[in-house]
Amino acid sequence: MTAAATLFGSVALGVGVVAMPPTDGVSASSDAVAAIAEDGLSPHATDVPLLTLQEAGVQRLTNDAPAIVSLTFDDGTQDQVLAANILAKRGLVATYYVTTGQTGAPGFLTRDQLHGLADLGSEIGGHTVHHLNLPTVTQNEARRQICQDRENLRQWGLPAQSFAYPYAAHNDEVQRAVRDCGYASGRGLGGAVGSGESMRLAGETISPEAKIVESLRPENPMVTLAPNMFDRRSGIEAYQKDVETAVGVGAGWTQLTFHGICEREATTCPEIMVTEQELERLADWLVEQVVAGRVAIRTVGEVINGDPTAPVPSAYLSTGSAGDPNAQHAAFTPRRSSDPGHRVSDFTHQNAQGAPICWNGFAYGDNTANFTITSKTGHEGQEALRLELTAKGPGEAKWLPIMDLGECSLAAEGGQSREITYTARGGGAQSQPVAFVRDETGRWTYFSAGRFTPLGEEWSEHTWKTPDLPAGTTALAVGIALQQTGWNEVRQITVQ
Ligand SMILES: [Zn+2]
Repeated sequence: MTAAATLFGSVALGVGVVAMPPTDGVSASSDAVAAIAEDGLSPHATDVPLLTLQEAGVQRLTNDAPAIVSLTFDDGTQDQVLAANILAKRGLVATYYVTTGQTGAPGFLTRDQLHGLADLGSEIGGHTVHHLNLPTVTQNEARRQICQDRENLRQWGLPAQSFAYPYAAHNDEVQRAVRDCGYASGRGLGGAVGSGESMRLAGETISPEAKIVESLRPENPMVTLAPNMFDRRSGIEAYQKDVETAVGVGAGWTQLTFHGICEREATTCPEIMVTEQELERLADWLVEQVVAGRVAIRTVGEVINGDPTAPVPSAYLSTGSAGDPNAQHAAFTPRRSSDPGHRVSDFTHQNAQGAPICWNGFAYGDNTANFTITSKTGHEGQEALRLELTAKGPGEAKWLPIMDLGECSLAAEGGQSREITYTARGGGAQSQPVAFVRDETGRWTYFSAGRFTPLGEEWSEHTWKTPDLPAGTTALAVGIALQQTGWNEVRQITVQ
């Protein structure tokens, strides 16, 4: 079965569509949630073990040079082991920006592997818990995403001092949050097309090419200047040119940004991923530059020289979070303010795209799904989530809450059973409630599902009592799935 996700609206899925990793510089989607969906498959798995320093047999290349290059890898996907091994065999190090809500999930690096990377001399940096597009969530959720991620790394013995923005998306408030959570730097990325066309201008007086070169003491360390992420259409030659530019400028810093790695045997490789062969060529070339005294390879943390022991403010840690009662984006409105764990859904909050805040439509497999919100002229003047499957192969479609650290999540504890009630109607389809749970690190995993229930065209109420939630649960997310060609509408999802 194949898997894919959509934010909202219509999506057509065919066999061969595979869930893609979160990518930076690409518009936001719900990859993070797709990756933890119960039947999501990851394209990023590899069986290749991470080399140790001893196995690599090469000491780290250390030198001084006017031009500094940092190799950075985003999202903490499992296939980055391939990159780490290529670098280790050449005495090179890198910075790995990790989304800790996915650490250890299928297709993502494990905690042991993060330590293995650190043992190789590389740096582990932060990339939020759930890879959300930070300027689009509330300020408090953005702070939780940044602070909890850093706290997770600290708790795992990997104190982080460097951060990279998911989707390279930030604003003043998000930048402040990165600093307040104890990071010394936040990496920006170049513009939309081609190397050398950076979003942030380093100054009017230098050439366009030089705008990709950051100072060793960045003017704004919370948005450090970097060329665009790697793209196979421009290839490693573009990055070689960027490094040459840094060498030409004299004293400067160039950060090169990678995502997934395609195995040597792969017959196709997405544009945003790099092949082992390409990375080897770039690494060999960088070693030549190091040996020639033109370039030095450093981690981002070594360049910025921040304080890994900087504390994380506890106000923005997610553990036991009951959500933010002041959130503008609340998906669940408390039925009784004295009982924040007992809520009823409210779909009347819509974002600029007309999508209900805190909800996403997902479709899996070979089908076409339409996700819409009905007008207020529906049942009792209330809006409802509408899901329509207009073609059907294997797979299913579902509405899911955005799985975050606060606003869109319902506080819950392990050992409890919760009763889910929803009002629905439909034609030609069966609906099913599905539940996900969040642990104390912020990681979401599939938990359980109720039975598929046939729906008639009249509104009817459905109840599902979950099994006891697993120990360590901090939050619950409940969605509604649809099987068979047809439609359903859901309103008033209540959890008590
Ligand atoms: Zn990312």
